[in-house]
Amino acid sequence: MSHASQATMRCLRCEARFFTDQIGYSCPHCDLDGALDVEYDYRAIGRGFKDEVLSHPGFDMWRYRALLPVRGAQLPPAHTGGSPLYRLPARGIGRVLVKDDSRNPSGSLKDRASALAVALARDMGVRTVAAASTGNAAAALACMAAGSDLRCVIFAPTSAAREKLAQIRAYGVEVIEVEGGYDEAFAACHAACRDNGWYNRSTGINSYMTEGKKTVAFEIFEQMGWTLPDRVFVPVGNGCIVGAVYKGFDELRRMGLTDRVPHIMGVQAEGSDYMYRAWREGAGPHRAERRPCKTAASSISVALPRDRIKALRAIEDSQGEFLRVSDDEIFTALLELARLSGVFAEPGAAAAYAGAKRYGAHERDETAVVVVTGSGLKDVGGLLRSGALSPASAADLAGAC
Ligand SMILES: *Cc1c(COP(=O)(O)O)cnc(C)c1O
Ligand SMILES: [Zn+2]
Repeated sequence: MSHASQATMRCLRCEARFFTDQIGYSCPHCDLDGALDVEYDYRAIGRGFKDEVLSHPGFDMWRYRALLPVRGAQLPPAHTGGSPLYRLPARGIGRVLVKDDSRNPSGSLKDRASALAVALARDMGVRTVAAASTGNAAAALACMAAGSDLRCVIFAPTSAAREKLAQIRAYGVEVIEVEGGYDEAFAACHAACRDNGWYNRSTGINSYMTEGKKTVAFEIFEQMGWTLPDRVFVPVGNGCIVGAVYKGFDELRRMGLTDRVPHIMGVQAEGSDYMYRAWREGAGPHRAERRPCKTAASSISVALPRDRIKALRAIEDSQGEFLRVSDDEIFTALLELARLSGVFAEPGAAAAYAGAKRYGAHERDETAVVVVTGSGLKDVGGLLRSGALSPASAADLAGAC
């Protein structure tokens, strides 16, 4: 019996349960309002998990295949996951480590989800994969479909940055420009996938994207010698990554490999802080006010996070916190991280380090991991426009270090 046949799906909104082969990738009752968790037989898998992981020859995300819903699966060939974990030079009593997921094939952690999406589409015999995205998710899907016989269609809002579109187009996929912003592109992609039977990788409709992304938590655990950090800092836009990091650690606990989960710290930009407000107000994931975004960190600029149910659960169930950081703090953190570790993060990713600084991770007697979700090469324009590299602000930074 394969592991996938043991996996079930549970809707976090209506609690309905399904077998994975009974439904697609969203709850048939709740559709866009719901969120499915893939659940495995943790006791059975946990017994052989470590041996199975250690017997996998390469250090990439497929080491953790026992807890991934792939069946036969021709896996995409690009080396995905298996990113380095560095310890930053000490600046206090705190131990701060950096998980450098900018080192993925298309330059972001989203490659983990897209690699799985391509494998799942193949398992289902689907010929076309699609996504709505303004940037990294689309680049990741286009990258994973490259060189295969899958057709890839990207729905991009006309407001998407030209630089990010250039990377997407370089992989040779079809780009459909949709008048408006992300919401309009998302709706167009949703309709096209429904009508044509295409595989939709968009965050918020495809509950499996959590599964690919959670592998980053397994890697951190393995790289720390099968032990846990105290705290993990994760940038939050739609909330998929933060939910996935939590789920990965929680699965280690459910398998009996640990007895706790680290405190998950979700970091948002001040100008895009829906989750922070929902958490502070304490009225659940759906009640906070939807406000227009204002931040230069485009990857975490989201008015209404699509994975808000999972994101809130991650913080509440791990007794973590949501934090907010200003754009100035983000760009200062971006440069400090580059100068301390050689890791060049895009602004959305540098927000996680800004959050760790705001929290005082360097000064606390704890071990913290900062997840760097995307490469600074993705948004050089944003760094230039920020003014952070001007001689005056560089001098400030040198003083601060
Ligand atoms: C997508 C993305 C995020 C935010 O992830 P969500 O799942 O939308 O919360 C953060 N950083 C980078 C680099 C991203 O591409
Ligand atoms: Zn449901």
